Amino acid sequence: MTHLKKIENKNISVIGAGLSGLYVAALATQKGAQVFLSEYRTKKFSKDELNLLERYNIDYETGGHTEQLENADLYIISPGIPKETDIYQSIKKSGQPVISEIEFASWFADDTQIIAITGTNGKSTTVRLVDHLFKGTHYNAYLGGNIGIPFSKLILEMENITQNKVFILEISSFQLEDIIDFKPYISMILNITADHLDRYQGDIDKYLEAKLQIAANQTKDDFYYYDSEDSLLTKNIPDNTNSSAYDQNNRYKDIIELKEDGSIFLQNGSKLKIRGRHNYKNILAAVAVCQHFQISKDHIMEQLNTFSGLAHRLEFVKNIKGIEFYNDSKSTNIDSVIQALTSFKQPMYLIMGGRDKDLDFSELLPYLNSNIKEIILIGEAADKIQKQLQTKRPIMKKKDLEQAVQHAYHKSSSGSVVLLSPGCASFDMYENYKKRGQHFKALVNSLQEQR
Ligand code: ADP
Repeated sequence: MTHLKKIENKNISVIGAGLSGLYVAALATQKGAQVFLSEYRTKKFSKDELNLLERYNIDYETGGHTEQLENADLYIISPGIPKETDIYQSIKKSGQPVISEIEFASWFADDTQIIAITGTNGKSTTVRLVDHLFKGTHYNAYLGGNIGIPFSKLILEMENITQNKVFILEISSFQLEDIIDFKPYISMILNITADHLDRYQGDIDKYLEAKLQIAANQTKDDFYYYDSEDSLLTKNIPDNTNSSAYDQNNRYKDIIELKEDGSIFLQNGSKLKIRGRHNYKNILAAVAVCQHFQISKDHIMEQLNTFSGLAHRLEFVKNIKGIEFYNDSKSTNIDSVIQALTSFKQPMYLIMGGRDKDLDFSELLPYLNSNIKEIILIGEAADKIQKQLQTKRPIMKKKDLEQAVQHAYHKSSSGSVVLLSPGCASFDMYENYKKRGQHFKALVNSLQEQR
């Protein structure tokens, strides 16, 4: 394996010119390799991307893969490219190593600096929490990975800082599919529920197997954390490392308390800005990491107090005449809807729907309590959701998000919650979940004048 890491003057082909492809191409060039970047889609690079390509003088093609990418000593493949694709099959056939971007970037980091967090839900929230808890300590913490800042970018731009470095990485299962040596000091799987099963032939065990790769290279000098309430994870605890449950084996557990109504309080009596059992667990996960870095209890409490959560994740939008509006547009699977529902006790109007990811909405039935006054459905999945949730609570279909928000507003009264938690992808009506959430917020913000 070490010979593989001597990349000077080697030919490296990077397949896929998304952000991580671009930055790994730049990093490999900086380390002395001859790099070729190949993108199947026709792609118009942004000004910044073109600057990067130019600065590192990277040879590239878009709109198809040609034979120029062949004869590489090493292939770096984008996490978006599934194993069944022709390109994946053909580079595998070449017999040369095929690795992911995080694998490559990790060759230039010290193992002891890597904190890697994966899971079906809660990754972004938890890595942001960890990053927030490191603020104001003597560590130079760098946040990246699947959160939109490639690990390669962190490495590329961080060359001269050597002291007290930590990389806090959000890792997706796709990124773990092509690792060889990637070895975090602390790894964590927050939870495993049904999602992305289209990529794993409907087989949750394959999805779990990809996730467990996060700990595959760890040793007894490292630490792996899992959720004690997740039966898939508790049945598959790795024995090559120090494994423990972040929600049990946690020195800082008593810092926070989850109340019956879903609010979260600090030991010193202050109420946190984030709510719900899932966020309580995310905090336990984040503070479990801090145990290894001698971060004080007082500092953690101070930082938790100023954490306001992430946009589009159970985000409080506005209170209009006593009605609270929450934007949970990032909720694109069943478990995230369940977490949102169980975060409130008030009367609720729930807006769901979008593009189905082949999920079973009837799993929501046990959570549709009497406080849920109505479920308002939009998008392609509306009929399927209606069928699967029938009879439990009143259901109404609406043409679009605007009509759904209007309807919810007119039906609700002071003391209720209007929640957008789609349980579906956004692509039938929006470019992405952010656009959907922004539209929801704009619709809510325009409501006040009307009533
Ligand atoms: P990810 O990065 O894994 O997609 P996010 O933090 O972006 O996770 O949250 C995605 C969705 O999942 C949001 O609707 C959020 O409220 C919900 N969520 C956050 N943490 C958890 C958790 N620990 N368990 C279940 N759902 C969660």
